[in-house]
Amino acid sequence: MTAKILDGTKLATEIRAEVAADVKTLNASGIRPGLAVVLVGHNPASEVYVRGKVKCSHEVGLYSEQHSPPETATTDELLALIDSLNRCDEIDGILVQLPLPPQVDSKPVLLAVDPAKDVDGFHPMNVGYLSTQRPGLVPCTPAGVMEILRRSGIPVTGQEAVVVGRSDIVGKPVAMLLLNQNATVTVCHSKTRDLPGVCRRADILVAAIGRAGMVTRDFVKPGATVIDVGINRVTDRAEFDRFFAGNPKRLETFLAKGSTLVGDVHPDVAEVAGAITPVPGGVGPLTIAMLMANTVKAAKLRRG
Ligand code: NAP
Repeated sequence: MTAKILDGTKLATEIRAEVAADVKTLNASGIRPGLAVVLVGHNPASEVYVRGKVKCSHEVGLYSEQHSPPETATTDELLALIDSLNRCDEIDGILVQLPLPPQVDSKPVLLAVDPAKDVDGFHPMNVGYLSTQRPGLVPCTPAGVMEILRRSGIPVTGQEAVVVGRSDIVGKPVAMLLLNQNATVTVCHSKTRDLPGVCRRADILVAAIGRAGMVTRDFVKPGATVIDVGINRVTDRAEFDRFFAGNPKRLETFLAKGSTLVGDVHPDVAEVAGAITPVPGGVGPLTIAMLMANTVKAAKLRRG
């Protein structure tokens, strides 16, 4: 069997178009949803992510502003910035790009974000809303996973779902979303016994581990849907060959760039699964699209 490829790039384009239409409707009633992105210092990876978020905001018609405190910023200075953004009526969403520099205590900074503007969905208030099925803001990557399933017509109710990974930003919220949609959910982690055996029970297998190609074909029930959240950069030729031997297109990219991306799922799994998200081009593109959707949702919830 060759799995159906769940094209995240295409789905993200659809979502961005819907968000842009929503923004137009809100504009007509005098509301321009606004997103503030806080980027502290000069982390190159964070700068790339933030550029992508700000660019996408413009494309869908959101008002957006970027705040760039220096690398030396203190916890108190960031708390003051968050306080001013919380009070600003033009701002519906506040995103604090992580990681913060080591002298900053991240927890109080993240806790200071008004839950109504917490478009990352990390605030304990939003975590509580999610687990009690109240309207709130859901973390973007997990929300993206659910959009892939919904828009691809993959049933969730009554299905066995296995999530590998229990982080606060991916594994746990994905598990909660699947549970809220009536899947029977198992959450695995580094202490799980017989991980391949547990994973083989899954109709829907979500991998959010951070280990290149760890989920191999013996983890997957034939025909299962496999959602690969992992993003791992491969730079070593032997490792490249372990994943992509016989794939000339990937080899070309690898040789040109000196690296390529692989998920937490070995590419061979596509020969066993019924449907699978590719890396790149699977879950990744949904994350920014869902941030845009969350900003519009926050505007609607907050401004009625
Ligand atoms: P994380 O915080 O490091 O959590 C990893 C989880 O995997 C932990 O719960 C850990 O278990 C579990 N794990 C690690 N090794 C394991 C093993 N050998 N067997 C079973 N479980 C194991 O990572 P994360 O932030 O959730 O991110 C996971 C992956 O998703 C990363 O590749 C990240 O880059 C990617 N990601 C992608 C997006 C996107 O937009 N596509 C967004 C966020 C993250 P313990 O809890 O027991 O340590």
